[in-house]
Amino acid sequence: MTDAGSLLIDHIGRLITNDPQLETGPTGQLGDAWVVVVDGLIASVGTGPAPGADRRIDAAGRCLLPGFVDSHSHLVFGGDRADEFAARMAGQTYQAGGIRTTVAATRAAPDEQLLARAVTLRDEAWRSGTTTIEIKSGYGLSVDDEARTLRIAGRLTDETTFLGAHVVPPEFDDRVDDYVDLVCGEMLAACLPHARWIDAFCERGAFDADQSRAVLQAGRAAGLGLRLHANQLGPGPGVQLAVELGCASADHCTYLSDDDIASLAGSDTVATFLPATDFSTRQPYPDARRLLDAGGVAALASNCNPGSSFTTSMPFCIALAVRDMNMTIDEAIWAATAGGAAALRRDDIGRVTPGARADLVLLDSATPIDFVYRPGVPLIVSTFVAGSIV
Ligand SMILES: [Zn+2]
Repeated sequence: MTDAGSLLIDHIGRLITNDPQLETGPTGQLGDAWVVVVDGLIASVGTGPAPGADRRIDAAGRCLLPGFVDSHSHLVFGGDRADEFAARMAGQTYQAGGIRTTVAATRAAPDEQLLARAVTLRDEAWRSGTTTIEIKSGYGLSVDDEARTLRIAGRLTDETTFLGAHVVPPEFDDRVDDYVDLVCGEMLAACLPHARWIDAFCERGAFDADQSRAVLQAGRAAGLGLRLHANQLGPGPGVQLAVELGCASADHCTYLSDDDIASLAGSDTVATFLPATDFSTRQPYPDARRLLDAGGVAALASNCNPGSSFTTSMPFCIALAVRDMNMTIDEAIWAATAGGAAALRRDDIGRVTPGARADLVLLDSATPIDFVYRPGVPLIVSTFVAGSIV
């Protein structure tokens, strides 16, 4: 899909590079900038007079930034839960068990239907500037259904995550340990060829710390990277477990104790906040300021799923993080780009520096402040993946 020849994008009013070498704030911003793309990669970046290239796009003073790295989504599922959402808005509380509704619909859906829905959502994510999206299984919860949902996810992304430990499926009621054994054994073996990561939902109503540890250790022994759903619905052991196991990311982090913050700040585990979930479940928002001031690394992701966060919009997540989680606009943009890359342990995305993949977003605005200042407004002119407009 890479266009041949070189591409110059010039007259960039503001370029967000996330280049740590540039001492121009956390997002390494440059004014009056240009970018040259060759073979799908960033070849060079500069300011002032631009070099020649085979093709040219005039940014006309607008803002260019790295494509969003959405490090947490559940895009492969059947059905929807609009009625449950409406009931919640009318006063019912969110419970992890609602996932079972989607499990039943996913098991009943043929592959083509699951793929078509996921492609529609991936295209929607592209339109809001997402250029890398992690996709989890977790709505199959049988050996065959987990493997086939991961196979479908693998059609859309390299960042696939086996989440057999999402909830206990109904046929294993009162036999949680038997289900954990299945996840760690036959289900892991069937999913291994299709997954890069393993994840578990460590939460009341899902899996406790020992069960989650067993799942992640089995995944690590099989060669998968580790991530964990932690501290979404209340305080709990998830964040400590994620740090103990060296997970790339602890996701949700809605409830963080002082000890959780100290542990994250002293570790390589990224705290991935999912504020669209807190929005859609009417939970309190986490205070990202506490984590950042302690020296922790934050990412923002959509958690797109039909139950608790049915949005692919990273700009929406940025707006919530700034308004309700005490992040600055620069911090939120960094978290949605370079932070997501860190949560996926990638250094080839989330930045506009030579050698990085040319994943770019051109805004219909001179400033990224508009992500928050003009919430809900379509701001994106073009999304580039590996140098090609998608
Ligand atoms: Zn999730």
